[in-house]
Amino acid sequence: MQEYKLYIGGQDVDPSSGEWLETIDPYKGTAWARIARGNKDDASRAVAAAKLAMTGTWAEMSATQRGKILRKIGDAVLENADRLAEIEVRDNGKLLTEMRGQLAMISEYWYYYAGLADKIEGTVVPIEKADSLALTLREPVGVVAALTAWNSPLMFCAMKCAPALAAGCAVVLKPSEFASVSTLEFAALTKKAGLPDGVLNVVTGLGTEAGAALIEHPDVSKISFTGSDVTGARIYEIAARSMKRVTMELGGKSPNIVFDDADLDAAAIGVISGIFGAAGQMCTAGSRLLVQNTIKDAFTKKLISLAQEIRLGDPMSPETNVGPIATPPQYQKVLDYLATANSDGARCILGGGPATGPGLIGGQFIQPTIFTDVTNDMRIAQEEVFGPILSILGFDTEQQAIEIGNDVIYGLAAGVWTANIGRAVRVSKAIKAGTVWVNTYRAYSYMLPSGGMKRSGLGRESGMEAINQFLETKGIILSTAASAPVNPFIQR
Ligand code: NAD
Repeated sequence: MQEYKLYIGGQDVDPSSGEWLETIDPYKGTAWARIARGNKDDASRAVAAAKLAMTGTWAEMSATQRGKILRKIGDAVLENADRLAEIEVRDNGKLLTEMRGQLAMISEYWYYYAGLADKIEGTVVPIEKADSLALTLREPVGVVAALTAWNSPLMFCAMKCAPALAAGCAVVLKPSEFASVSTLEFAALTKKAGLPDGVLNVVTGLGTEAGAALIEHPDVSKISFTGSDVTGARIYEIAARSMKRVTMELGGKSPNIVFDDADLDAAAIGVISGIFGAAGQMCTAGSRLLVQNTIKDAFTKKLISLAQEIRLGDPMSPETNVGPIATPPQYQKVLDYLATANSDGARCILGGGPATGPGLIGGQFIQPTIFTDVTNDMRIAQEEVFGPILSILGFDTEQQAIEIGNDVIYGLAAGVWTANIGRAVRVSKAIKAGTVWVNTYRAYSYMLPSGGMKRSGLGRESGMEAINQFLETKGIILSTAASAPVNPFIQR
């Protein structure tokens, strides 16, 4: 079995604990690699390496030179895309076809921020004081702790590290204990691309050990976190004690709103892929379908017939549409929500349990599931499941759709399906979500800021805005006076 050490200061190093964690292929249900169980000492070693890098070569390098290295990292991602894709599929059961697309997007992240590295500019501010010149400088915030979830580790790594490095920061990454290998393989590529030692470090291990030590470390200035809202809130509290800056990308319970004037065939495809893609293990999953009552029955029939075509199976196979649930705890969580939905009175009209059959090995498949007769006070309508479960709620008016859409603690994403442009704009503005898709769903761009409102997060990733999350602004006032200032302590 392959063994993956910690990556600190440009070297593969053994964990201080001498302990290792198994990493399981969720499709086969068998261990395929061992990762180091990092602890507090390892987190400290990694932060020290990052701090040193920020005072050495990395700080001395011109922004243009930093950008060139980021570009080489983008090239390395593309050159190794097939290998990285296969590793991530083994780690978390994502579809190989989807991963190939993601890898192309990941390289674009690196290219985009490579281009931005030497375009971080300050300003000259025409302040009201005579004989002075006022400037702003944009400086790297410091050492960044980047903690990522298991569902798309390489994508989250790019979304955090590319802007952080472009800004001149150094990073310690803590990937999920369920899917760390692709991040470690990626880190090795950054060294070959010429990234100086210590600029990017990876400490694997448990969230409550390596992760907790990292976020408490006094030399970490910024925490960039992708994960659940419960963990995010805990980290936010800890960060506040030492005034660390935070960016939080958290969970969602996104409404996909279908009006009766929409192109219903397109909407049905958008709804199905929005909840059953990646087996629903997406923060932006459109887990609540809000459909106008005039078309509810007909639209539901359309959804069922499309969902019945979904092929579950080996995530490596191009024939497969939906793979396994990535981890045993997540699988159990989905099963628990199925039971809760039934006992709360929702009516299951498709699926509703574990999927078994030829080719479904490993025991972690869930049938694409649809519940109707869902009311918005039910747990299945309010809580994030992170699995292939769709809840259908009806509405009569635009106002009702907006009210139900917003009546959750989350605000990550939403879909609006309508042929009426005015309505599309009105509803997009009224929905409290960081991203709203109109007549499409699951469309992403490295250029467009994304993130959560309400309990779905803080700050934005992607686009120009992301780089601000890794910068501090400093104001400087220079005196341009020809004569010495008046001494305020002498009476005249
Ligand atoms: P999680 O919160 O359990 O873990 C996320 C990361 O935090 C992991 O690396 C974990 O090891 C670490 N961690 C856990 N406890 C910690 C602690 N006490 N201190 C420090 N670190 C700790 O989340 P998960 O189960 O890996 O991921 C699923 C969640 O992530 C879902 O809620 C999903 O919506 C969310 N998510 C959000 C986005 C987004 O961009 N908004 C994207 C993907 C996933």
